[in-house]
Amino acid sequence: MAEAACEQLSLALANLRLKEALRNQAIRDPLTGLFNRRYLEESLEREMARCQRKDQPLAVLMLDIDHFKSFNDTNGHPGGDALLAEFGRLLQSKCRADDIACRYGGEEFTVILPEASLALALERAEEIRRGAAEMEVAMRGQALPKVTISIGVSAAPEHGRSGTGLLSVADKALYEAKTGGRNRAVAAPQG
Ligand code: GH3
Ligand code: MG
Ligand code: MG
Repeated sequence: MAEAACEQLSLALANLRLKEALRNQAIRDPLTGLFNRRYLEESLEREMARCQRKDQPLAVLMLDIDHFKSFNDTNGHPGGDALLAEFGRLLQSKCRADDIACRYGGEEFTVILPEASLALALERAEEIRRGAAEMEVAMRGQALPKVTISIGVSAAPEHGRSGTGLLSVADKALYEAKTGGRNRAVAAPQG
C-alpha cells in the first residue's frame, strides 16, 4: 500500500514539474531567460487595464543594442549570444518585481513599468543605459568589446491608453535615439 502511494505521489510530482517546465518554455526566451514577446503582448493590455483602474500611469521602454550586427560580425554569433545573455541578466537586475522585462526579438528588448510615470521611466532607462555601457562580457576567458544601447520611452496616459499604441510610440522614440547618435534614452514627445 505504502509503496503504491509513494509511486502515485512521485508520478504526480513529476507531472507537476513537467507542467511547470512547459509553461516556462511557452513564456520565456531560452537565451536570456526574459519573458518572450507573446507574454509581453498578453501582459501589456492586462497591466494597462489594472493601472487605469487604479488611476496610475504605466510606462514602456523599447531597448535596442547599438551596431549589434557589426558586433556579431567581429565576435561571431556565440559572442553575440553571450552579450545578449549578459544583457538579459542586467535588465533583470535593474527591474523591480512588478516590472515585466522581455526579449522582443533579436537584439530588441521591452520593459513594462506598471505605475511608473514618463519621468521616472526615463530615469530608469538612463540607469539601464549606463549599466549596459559598463557591462563586461567575456567568452572563453576573452573580454569582448563594450557595447552601447539606445532606448525609447513612452507612458500612459500622455501617449494614449492602448498597449500597442504605447509600443509604437516608444519605438518612434527609439528611432529618435538612434538617429540622434545612439547610446541614449529618449522620451517620446508630449502633446
Ligand atoms: P542599430 O545600431 O541601428 O540598431 O544597428 P544594428 O546593427 O544593431 O541593427 P540591425 O537590426 O541591422 O542588426 C541586428 C543584428 O542582430 C542582426 C543579427 O545578426 C543580430 N541578431 C539577431 N538575433 C540574434 C541572436 O539571437 N543572436 C545573435 N548572436 N545575433 C542576433
Ligand atoms: Mg540594434
Ligand atoms: Mg534592432
